[in-house]
Amino acid sequence: MITTPTTMPELFGSLVFNEETMQQRLSPASYAAWKKCITDGTSLDISIANEIAESMKQWAVEHGATHFTHWFQPMTGVTAEKHDSFVSPIGGGKIVMEFSGKELVRGEPDASSFPSGGLRATFEARGYTAWDPTSFAFIKDGSLCIPTIFCSYSGEALDKKMPLLRSMDEVSRQAVRILRLFGDTETKRVIPQVGAEQEYFLIDKEGYKQREDLRMCGRTLFGAKPPKGQELEDHYFGAIRPRVAAYMQELDEELWKVGVLSKTKHNEVAPCQHEMAPIYTDANTACDHNQLAMELMKKVADRHGLVCLLHEKPFAGVNGSGKHDNWSLSTDSGKNLLKPGSTPSQNAQFLLFLAAFIKGVDEYQDFLRATVAFAGNDHRLGAQEAPPAVVSIFLGDELNAVVESIINGTKYTDAGKRTLEVGVDVLPSIRQDNTDRNRTSPMAFTGNKFEFRMLGSSQSVSGPNIALNTMMAEQLEEFADQLEKAKDFTGELQALIRKTLTEHQRIIFNGNGYEDAWIKEAEKRGLSNLTSTADALPAYTAKKNIDLFTRHGIYTKSEIEARAEIHMENYVTTLTIEGNTMVDMIQHQILPAVSNYADHLCQRIYHKDASGVSCKFETVTAKKIADLTDKLMDAAEKLEQDLSKVPSESRKAMDYIHKTLLGDMSTARKLADQLETATAKEYWPFPVYSDLLFYM
Ligand code: ADP
Ligand code: MG
Repeated sequence: MITTPTTMPELFGSLVFNEETMQQRLSPASYAAWKKCITDGTSLDISIANEIAESMKQWAVEHGATHFTHWFQPMTGVTAEKHDSFVSPIGGGKIVMEFSGKELVRGEPDASSFPSGGLRATFEARGYTAWDPTSFAFIKDGSLCIPTIFCSYSGEALDKKMPLLRSMDEVSRQAVRILRLFGDTETKRVIPQVGAEQEYFLIDKEGYKQREDLRMCGRTLFGAKPPKGQELEDHYFGAIRPRVAAYMQELDEELWKVGVLSKTKHNEVAPCQHEMAPIYTDANTACDHNQLAMELMKKVADRHGLVCLLHEKPFAGVNGSGKHDNWSLSTDSGKNLLKPGSTPSQNAQFLLFLAAFIKGVDEYQDFLRATVAFAGNDHRLGAQEAPPAVVSIFLGDELNAVVESIINGTKYTDAGKRTLEVGVDVLPSIRQDNTDRNRTSPMAFTGNKFEFRMLGSSQSVSGPNIALNTMMAEQLEEFADQLEKAKDFTGELQALIRKTLTEHQRIIFNGNGYEDAWIKEAEKRGLSNLTSTADALPAYTAKKNIDLFTRHGIYTKSEIEARAEIHMENYVTTLTIEGNTMVDMIQHQILPAVSNYADHLCQRIYHKDASGVSCKFETVTAKKIADLTDKLMDAAEKLEQDLSKVPSESRKAMDYIHKTLLGDMSTARKLADQLETATAKEYWPFPVYSDLLFYM
């Protein structure tokens, strides 16, 4: 048995079969083969897989593991695992712990219960998992977890990892071509880097248990505004309460053990809202780590008598939760390609990558928006708190001035009154703290990375990263095709950057994204404003988007169509559950409760003659409650009826829900919330917002 780690460096990654462990435990030949597989994308032969498996098993058993599982990310957006034990009987009632290269490399979970969007015919329900040697195995709950991709019998991607890996390869290939043009002969791979900041709510388990809506839907379907909300902003960066501090400490330790570099913790704007940010890493690992983090957040909360809510909008009228996807490109030697440099050539290269990014986001803004289209996120995007539904890019004053001077061929005044010549001049310095304070922008340049802020807190980060990698690959390919043939490289480069920035300047917006004026302006600029999931999801399968992904081998046409189908099904299922839960709570909890209260009031009124006391309050309240009760009953009935009419085909169902059910639910909620305000607290059947949000 390994001794329990005590210091942070010992603790960190102690449950990860990482590079250092591999170097110590594998033969030099196997270690080298694994390393080559990572850097050059070569495949591993079975004898090496056998050795790695054996060494992984030994290490895992020493750390208390008894089982192994292929850990994968089906299109549900959460992770899945199927555990097998290492145990193998050897006769005489004895066992040995075994794990072969074959078991490491390939698994065959019963896949029939995972969504496939029609990709997998029911007669061929098998799915396969295949080891992703670029993401380290780790131990969780006594199981060795092996990160894997998940695909169908015929090799179609059924998960979120396989297309992410494909997109990382593709953007690398194209970015390396560009680097060669700038004289870089060394770089073999360019790797997208991602840091996913994760917001979440933490509430007391007792209150949670008493709310059917929280248990069934992860959000409250009812709840009048509490007397105190986030108006005082006393929560943001406020002192962390001891109970939450204890939770955060344990969460950090759990995350460190599995190699997640959790770094910051602070309170968010809303009461009970917090954030965890890891230090960025390659997009694949970052995506795995974010999934792990979401899982551990929930688990650790449970041990503290708390519940971690990852829903985008657990409470109406209170800030929702998002996930900021910080994205950049780095060479294999660690050079950040989105960082302005100090020489004219470095800066020309930076501006070319910047131009590619701007063009990519402009051309595929609808797809980017569609990757975050999700029932939970509909409560945030465009609701004056999260970024608006319009995709735009914020550059900050300095970089924006640079872009304008390039477009207009005018003098760049701040930096000594000169015209900026790409490839000849150096850029003025761009102060980082100046670039990241516009919190209203969905896509902000923050000094050396872009921060995409539209993702919902519960979503997998892979969707937008697949999109960003692929749209970047597309533009870089186009640029490389042109520039590789250029006779006058600097001249053509300058012209290309200028042309690109000019044609796509409309996507740049540095003002306040929450203002109505921006929505009007955006419309004038021809930017898309897809305000709901029902509006945004069809973009998934727009021809130009299918073309983009098929051209780069990220998705086949059927893979992308399957994904769109799954997203629509998910929307329909989520809202159907919400609608049914609402009806159930109204009929079985709210109506009986308000009826009891009305009865209590009426008894008082009935007895008034005997006591001779005035009953103004009772009379007025009883009337109000009776009126609201009747209306709520009707609203619940209408909702119930409409729920029975949801069409079976997903696109139709989604549109129907958007047009009909959302309105029904909003009507019912308003009435119920008015009743909550009118009803004595002891009669109300479940904890209210002030109980849930101010429990500390
Ligand atoms: P914020 O002001 O949003 O808190 P931070 O500088 O703390 O900004 O970074 C937020 C996240 O961005 C962290 O997860 C961090 O690791 C990540 N990050 C920093 N630099 C990069 C980069 N070059 N590429 C990708 N992510 C990055
Ligand atoms: Mg941020």
